[in-house]
Amino acid sequence: MVLMGMMPIVAQSTPTAPTDPNVTIHVVQRGENLFRIALQYGLTVDQLARANGIISVNNLQVGQRLLIPLNAEPILNPPTTHTVQPGETIETIALFYQIDQARLIQQNGITNPNQLYIGQVLTIVPSEAVTPATIETTVTPAPPTTDTLTTSGLTHVIQRGETLFTIAQNYGVSMADLQTANNITDPSVIYFGQVLVIPGVQPVVDSVQLPEAIASLDVTPLILTEGKTGRIRLTTRSASAVTANFLNRDLPVITNGPDTYLIFAAIPLNTPEAIYPFTLTITETSGAVISYTLNLQVVLGYYGIANITLPADRAALITQSVDEAELEILRGIMGRFNPERYFDGPLSLPAAAPMNSPFGQRRSYNGGPADRSHQGADFAGAPGSPVKAAASGRIVMTDTLNIRGTSVIIDHGWGVYTNYSHLSERYVNLGDFVQTGQVIGTVGSSGRATGAHLHWELWVNGVPVDPMQWVYQAFP
Ligand SMILES: [Zn+2]
Repeated sequence: MVLMGMMPIVAQSTPTAPTDPNVTIHVVQRGENLFRIALQYGLTVDQLARANGIISVNNLQVGQRLLIPLNAEPILNPPTTHTVQPGETIETIALFYQIDQARLIQQNGITNPNQLYIGQVLTIVPSEAVTPATIETTVTPAPPTTDTLTTSGLTHVIQRGETLFTIAQNYGVSMADLQTANNITDPSVIYFGQVLVIPGVQPVVDSVQLPEAIASLDVTPLILTEGKTGRIRLTTRSASAVTANFLNRDLPVITNGPDTYLIFAAIPLNTPEAIYPFTLTITETSGAVISYTLNLQVVLGYYGIANITLPADRAALITQSVDEAELEILRGIMGRFNPERYFDGPLSLPAAAPMNSPFGQRRSYNGGPADRSHQGADFAGAPGSPVKAAASGRIVMTDTLNIRGTSVIIDHGWGVYTNYSHLSERYVNLGDFVQTGQVIGTVGSSGRATGAHLHWELWVNGVPVDPMQWVYQAFP
């Protein structure tokens, strides 16, 4: 029985109906996390956590009541950074953060807003409080998507010093969910610039505005490096044909399911550090042709320099013309495009031996200029030890070359080839189909070798690139 005029006694362990007009209550729903809730109310995770005395952002419970500060005075959000994604422009980013375009341009020292490039990091300085009302008026629902790795979800670009664990914690998602969404089997193998999809988190305002013909577009990594491979994944609404042009070359466009296309952007060594246009041309089934250009940045690889001394009897082989002639032969074989794919997942190592000379190293022979780069990775295998196929494929060359000596080339399909050089023995013939790990020959010192080792190359679309990237990272 409750007596009239008597105040009910309520345990105040969690916030109830607020008496403060500057505060409201949010009841945590299934699938929500602190990041998502903060975004909904125009707050930072930190502000929301502080208002509720939350120490671990992971410990949010469904049904938990959170105090949402609706301060009349402006909330001064700390400056934050934004990494430019495909489909974003100054206009859409300014809208996303509810800030003035001109200030965004000025604060980031941007001289030409059309030169905004993918992966560019912008400083976002919020000028005033973002109230829930202004957020709600600009909500645009994200288009439905079937692809997990797409820019229409929330993505995170891995920065130096971050781990999968800290990222999962920051977004309040589990490690397992983050790994599944990004197809990561080994959480220790992540790299700077890698784009992660944050599962279950959708941005409130979609800052990505792609042409109608494009359903989704992603570039991995967002910033490309000379000597490395980038991957562009495109899904279209109804395309009959897609072409791609980058670094003044037409790149093979791989059809990978209905309306899904993949392009490997192999960046040649010594490509100058700059921003380059990547142009997609989409011919729709209606006959309409749409051209869309992304600005992609290429940065230097910093592969180092080595001085190599060759015995006098082999010195004749170091002339540039011999080098070029051999590369021309290799280009003729590994520049072809086979639409069938034989590889699946990361490449396996071709020798059970330590790598003693990495890909991309600039080389000076017998004191000459460091004008040539190492086109492969060397493994210090003992003479006669086995050399194994890095992935399944067809043998498309078994020859003895001037510099590389006895060599075997495997076509893995989709423009991907591996070459194994300086062999002492080879166990395969032209046209053979080999499986991953199959022994194809033995380590030797044939050709221009200072000692027995395996020289291993990976070529993508006719360009030698770092094979170790494909060991650590699963393509496609
Ligand atoms: Zn080598």
